[in-house]
Amino acid sequence: MIVRTRFAPSPTGRLHLGHALAARVAHSLARQTPGGKFLLRHEDIDAPRVREAYYQGIEEDLEWLGLRWDEPPLRQTSRSAAYEAALARLRENRRVYPCFCTRREIQAEWAAMAAAPQTAEGPIYPGTCRKLPPHEQQAKLASGLPCAWRLDSRLAASLTGPLSFHDLRFGTTAANPDLLGDVVLARKDIGPAYHLAVVVDDAFQQISHVTRGEDLLPSTHVHRLLQALLELPAPIYLHHPLMLDEHGKRLAKRSDPLSIAALREAGLTPEEVFARIELTGIT
Ligand code: GLU
Repeated sequence: MIVRTRFAPSPTGRLHLGHALAARVAHSLARQTPGGKFLLRHEDIDAPRVREAYYQGIEEDLEWLGLRWDEPPLRQTSRSAAYEAALARLRENRRVYPCFCTRREIQAEWAAMAAAPQTAEGPIYPGTCRKLPPHEQQAKLASGLPCAWRLDSRLAASLTGPLSFHDLRFGTTAANPDLLGDVVLARKDIGPAYHLAVVVDDAFQQISHVTRGEDLLPSTHVHRLLQALLELPAPIYLHHPLMLDEHGKRLAKRSDPLSIAALREAGLTPEEVFARIELTGIT
């Protein structure tokens, strides 16, 4: 097997130590086997948060760290046709349904529930629009009301039957796509979103090993289901531990992350940056 890994940051900020760790894990795995390839994918579909300067910032930081990618970087914004095609297929097969709920409506439903099932990202969508009678759904669609598209996870999982994925740290795990509820595959504002794009692109880039932080483990259960629905190959996974700060807390994406650029300006060498990561004992 030719090992192909990828680092897939969003150009919504500068890279920090957590990114350096993720990139290093993907890069080392590719470099461990002859012919292995390390790819770079800019996950830039969340347009309102993307800034042009960050693409260059990411590439500059990776080069400075010595983590050179082997093929031209892929931008997700160049791939919308592929995502739309995947979404159309799921729509035709009725594996997704339109969701017209506003954030406020969903919050009101949660408030009215005795205990809404929780995930690390918040409570699970209560399934309001899944239960819409077909004529109401049709009328709303025909009226042009903006809608998101949600995966009908239980229905889809019942159609594919049991699925599993293999992780180099955790072994083989039975997929439980219901873990995150009916996730959004296409948003009202930007259209096809993370879960759909990542699955379509990992197949397109022939990624053999998906390496990512263990915070994304719940998403992998959903991705495995999407791969089955779209008849895409299932990669091997490596969910690595997250970088912790000096208080043992996860390096938050927004709270004062230690950017690679700042460390470089402070005079650290790439080796010293990696030494900080190695303290975590992961790479
Ligand atoms: N773009 C995602 C992130 O920065 C990673 C995507 C993935 O590994 O699936 O967290």
